[in-house]
Amino acid sequence: MAKIQMTTPLVEMDGDEMTRILWKMIKDELLLPFIDLKTEYYDLGLEYRDKTDDQVTIDAAEANKKYGVSVKCATITPNPARVEEYGLKKMYKSPNGTIRAILDGTVFRTPILVKGIDPCVRNWKKPITIARHAYGDVYKNTEMKIPGPGEAKLVFDGKDGSHMEKTIFDFEEPGIIQGIHNRDASIESFARSCFTYALAEKKDLWFATKDTISKTYDRDFKEIFEKVYEEYKDRFEEAGITYFYTLIDDAVARIVRSEGGMIWACKNYDGDVFSDMISTAFGSLAMMTSVLISPDGKYEYEAAHGTVQKHYYKYLKGEETSTNSVATIFAWTGALRKRGELDGNKELMDFADKLEKATIDTIEGGTMTGDLVRMTTLPNPKKVDSLGFIQAIRANLEKSL
Ligand code: NAP
Ligand code: MG
Repeated sequence: MAKIQMTTPLVEMDGDEMTRILWKMIKDELLLPFIDLKTEYYDLGLEYRDKTDDQVTIDAAEANKKYGVSVKCATITPNPARVEEYGLKKMYKSPNGTIRAILDGTVFRTPILVKGIDPCVRNWKKPITIARHAYGDVYKNTEMKIPGPGEAKLVFDGKDGSHMEKTIFDFEEPGIIQGIHNRDASIESFARSCFTYALAEKKDLWFATKDTISKTYDRDFKEIFEKVYEEYKDRFEEAGITYFYTLIDDAVARIVRSEGGMIWACKNYDGDVFSDMISTAFGSLAMMTSVLISPDGKYEYEAAHGTVQKHYYKYLKGEETSTNSVATIFAWTGALRKRGELDGNKELMDFADKLEKATIDTIEGGTMTGDLVRMTTLPNPKKVDSLGFIQAIRANLEKSL
């Protein structure tokens, strides 16, 4: 069979540890035999990041801007232990943080559903995607412990000489205060990324705040979303999808009772909390995909999990590993499908569909990695090692091509 051709390269960002090992296996077994794979390769492995003083991360993000679609392997975010382990010149920032800042994007996380790995919530039949606003609020706060009686105020001194102030509370005893902020431009980018993604995925978009209580702060979020929605309204109607706004507590109740299938846009703190709830309730971080989308429609696909360090150390000792490659495979299929869509390359899109189906069929057929064996409701699951799993997928894939 002739290999599938590509017209535009994917931006390929390699990474670290066990996921770097899986990355090569996936390319060798599932991609290179079938696709004349065109990529522009950036090595975001920690050693090369150190060698280039992290310039490679910036270059990769710029390439993502240029070409529009990238696929990224999990990478180490350096901490003091990693600085020592790798003898780093300095404690570089998180590559994901750097890329997100350059693309000004929002991260969307979606679980991959398979029969036999059942969500804790019985009525969830379709994946729920969480989009978390990754700027401001309590994550960039200023806090104070109030030692005793006194007046706490909120003060704004404008560059134009204007002045506003409000009393927060008249303390008669010790207490605490906190100042938080957000920027309209950041909220607007977030809204635009969410509407863009909902259209691309043809899924309803939900957003919720507590604007009945937070009549200025949360209302600003609500109003900016409403304003941006006006730009998308016609396209939403055409696509047969809806934008739904409600209060956060109502949203939580409705989500739990729903069958899933929506994109749920969350303020920063809500996204922090509910993304952990959703990923745990759907089963496993190893089955969660993640895509970063900029407001102007640039896409970066990756797995939601990290570099699986513990498995890598076993691998280095020559011990058997059974690391789940599903989320990384779906990062590739997501990127290939999007590339295919942008280039009008139907063959590439079909291939992505077939590879995803082969992956799901493998698990549903009872062959899976150790993490899933521990969770599955399927009888007599067969545990395979990291490469064995990928080869089992290849066997299924070959049958469908
Ligand atoms: P992790 O790599 O997500 O792994 C934590 C544990 O979760 C593993 O030890 C393993 O549990 C299980 N696990 C995660 N993914 C798995 C998979 N694909 N297959 C099977 N089991 C899986 O998190 P971490 O160990 O806390 O972080 C390691 C490194 O990843 C850190 O340096 C961190 O900076 C980086 N990180 C990167 C990203 C990213 O690039 N997007 C995200 C998060 C973390 P068992 O050991 O019980 O099998
Ligand atoms: Mg969290």
